[in-house]
Amino acid sequence: MKGRGPFIYDCSALKEEMKMRSDVAWMVYVAVLAMGASAALGQNTGTDVPPVIDVHVHAMDGSFPGVGPMCPNESKFLASDPKTQESPSGWSQEECTPKLYPAKDGEYMKDVIAEMERLNVTAVVFGDPKSVQKWRDAAPKSVIPGTSFNDGLKPGVRVPLDELRKDFTTDGFKVMGEIGLQYEGLSPSDPSVDQYFALAEELDIPVAIHMGTGGSGRANVTMPKFRGSMGDPLLLEGLLARHPKLRVQVMHAGYPMIDNMLTLLQANSHVYVDVAGLIWSYPLKEVNRYIERLVDAGFEDRVMFGTDQLLWPGLMAYSISIIQNADYLTPEQKRDILYNNAARFLRLGTAK
Ligand SMILES: [Zn+2]
Repeated sequence: MKGRGPFIYDCSALKEEMKMRSDVAWMVYVAVLAMGASAALGQNTGTDVPPVIDVHVHAMDGSFPGVGPMCPNESKFLASDPKTQESPSGWSQEECTPKLYPAKDGEYMKDVIAEMERLNVTAVVFGDPKSVQKWRDAAPKSVIPGTSFNDGLKPGVRVPLDELRKDFTTDGFKVMGEIGLQYEGLSPSDPSVDQYFALAEELDIPVAIHMGTGGSGRANVTMPKFRGSMGDPLLLEGLLARHPKLRVQVMHAGYPMIDNMLTLLQANSHVYVDVAGLIWSYPLKEVNRYIERLVDAGFEDRVMFGTDQLLWPGLMAYSISIIQNADYLTPEQKRDILYNNAARFLRLGTAK
């Protein structure tokens, strides 16, 4: 269990990228907090806020030196030349108002949990059991714990099967994830990890697998084993054929492989997707087009909201606002994406 590092959405690349952005201005940060960061982002506050489930949060804590403010949904990725020092993510550096600011040293978890309370969010929080336990202790009613057999981002390092079994049978973990085989250049159907999926099927635990997104166009710089091709949703077919009762959350909705994603959703009605990460880290028009395509193809009851919450506590409110402001979704579809679909997938009970 020791050493099971947090698995996060290409965070190392993001952190590097953030170092290159302007420094955090703490006075601005405090001012934004004081006025309610997400009030500025168009969120409601108060006890009558309808519930939201965020199916994709990471059990980070601590401080993140060098990380600066961030503008989500930047409009392009810049070309680079291998002859020069390449930036790790390739995001263009555009201005926005308001920017999202990282938490003050040591206050990340507290800030995110305060946001969850304010926005009435229940979150599936992934990480090594010890890190997740901190979040469970801090917010027992609103954290659904998840853990996986990856050891952080170390390729090929696995948690022993018995240890993982205990996490789910004795220690109350509810989801197996984030499973990041794509970062190792491995297919989710690779036989070397089949025992873990067999365990999930046996225990009737849903699995959450990173499929698709790979940061922002510089996989070769920070994650040399990452393969875009290993995020193809159709690679799940072999796994699902071997484990027909397995409930699968395709994290990041297999972005950008929409046709193969739809093919998988058509063939397997207990496969769901989350829109985490992609919802704030790709150009907004493209994000909306991708979500709209999933819904227009008839899968409005299998799209789940997620943030991939990391580094910037305001990311959750910002990401919720993307769904709330989507003019192509009906109020019912927004409720389904923000709450009902995840409640069904996680078997939490009644619709809201
Ligand atoms: Zn991921």
